[in-house]
Amino acid sequence: MADRDEFEAQYAARSGVTVSQLHAWGRYAEPCNCGDETCEGWAMGHQQEDAIVENEIRHGCRHG
Ligand SMILES: [Zn+2]
Repeated sequence: MADRDEFEAQYAARSGVTVSQLHAWGRYAEPCNCGDETCEGWAMGHQQEDAIVENEIRHGCRHG
């Protein structure tokens, strides 16, 4: 099982960002015991993906 740093690094890579960027957004891995068979034992808050999506939307939608 990955430790926190490894999980964050893998999560960042999947998201196309850096761990530093995740931390800049205030996002950190938290222990997870959801029981899902794909669970890595760590999870980012649900707001994490929202933040990335929101950032992409803002970046790709420049008014004016
Ligand atoms: Zn889980």
